[in-house]
Parts: sequence; C-alpha cells; structure tokens
Amino acid sequence: MRVLYVEDEQFLAEAVKHNLGKEGIDCDLAFDGEEGLNKAVDEIYDVVILDVMLPKLSGIDILRRMRERKMVTPVIMLSALSEVEDKVHGLEAGADDYLAKPFKTAELVARIKALLRRPAELREEKIKYLNLVYDVNEKSLNGVSLTAKEAGIICELMKMPGKIVKKDYLLNKIWGGDAFGEDNYIEVYISRLRKILRKVDSKAEISSVRGFGYKIVEA
Ligand code: CA
Repeated sequence: MRVLYVEDEQFLAEAVKHNLGKEGIDCDLAFDGEEGLNKAVDEIYDVVILDVMLPKLSGIDILRRMRERKMVTPVIMLSALSEVEDKVHGLEAGADDYLAKPFKTAELVARIKALLRRPAELREEKIKYLNLVYDVNEKSLNGVSLTAKEAGIICELMKMPGKIVKKDYLLNKIWGGDAFGEDNYIEVYISRLRKILRKVDSKAEISSVRGFGYKIVEA
C-alpha cells in the first residue's frame, strides 16, 4: 500500500511517514503544492493525503487538478483552519474524506483503510475518456461487454489518461500474486482491447511504451 502525503510542516510529515511505515504503509512526501501535484500525477498511489494550506498550490487546487484529469485516487484532506468551511470546500472539490488537525496517526490509518475497502472504481459508476464510456457495474465499454481482465485493464488505463500504467502494476492489480512470467498474457488482452476500441470507433487508442507499460491517449 502506497500513499502520498503533501505537507509543508516537514517535521509533522516525517513523523506521520514514520508512523504509517510501522503500519506497513509506504508514504511518499511532498513539501509544497507543486511538488505534490507532480507526484500525484506522475506516480500511482492508493490514497493521496493533502494538507489544505500549502506553498505554491493549495491542497484544494491539487485536488481539483487531479479530478480534472479524471483521476479517481481517493483523497483525504487535512486542515487546521476553520474546520467546517474547509471541510465543505474539500468535499465539494472531490475529496473522499476529511480529517482535522491535529490528528492521531491511528485515526489517519483507519481512514486510509476505510477508503481502500471501497475500490476507487466502485465509487465512480462510469469512467469517461474522449468518446469512451466504461461502465463499472456492467463491465462494458460503450456497450460492449468485457471479460473481467479486459475490464480491469481498460479501467486502470482510463482512470489515468495519458499516463503510463506499468505492466508490473497491471499484473499485480489484475492477476494478483500469481502473475510471474505472464507478461505475454497482457499483450493478448491489450490486442483484444484494441480491436474493441476500433469496433466502437474510439477516438482514443492504447499505446505501448516499450518495456514499460501502456497508456491510453487520443488517437
Ligand atoms: Ca500547511
């Protein structure tokens, strides 16, 4: 489990990182809004934790930009300021949970775990990119039914359009623990998905990034 924590109070950030580590949660830190946004967009996290008041970009700005990019990564907002108002702003901007400062690590861990119990894809019933609509409940893409693995792959790609989704990540997430040496399987599913994209006249295509993974981009 890997989380990003964007916090300008470096001492607090390091302490939380340390405590999360003891709970088996890997924590990347960013100390200002710009660095935080870059990491949130470039890396893949299970949960992103955002302080509201940050240099360069606020936590709410980061959250808005993530949601504009259709990223559905769960976000927990933290703030010490006039709680009610911040909470409303954060939730309006698309935060999944809110925690007032000061907080106990145990409370943060409980919130992280609660968010991870409901997978991101279940909270969004439909994921859209260009003229593609993936229906989470039906596991269908523009009305075409997908197999569980096709659905898993396209869902991961569409959650982060334009971003490379690493092969290892897909293997881990979709095939689970017994994915060793099954690289080629992914190729098979990708080529099936490409056929489906052609069939539905998709304006998006899956591009391969050699030795790395795949991304969905405008065709
Ligand atoms: Ca702050």
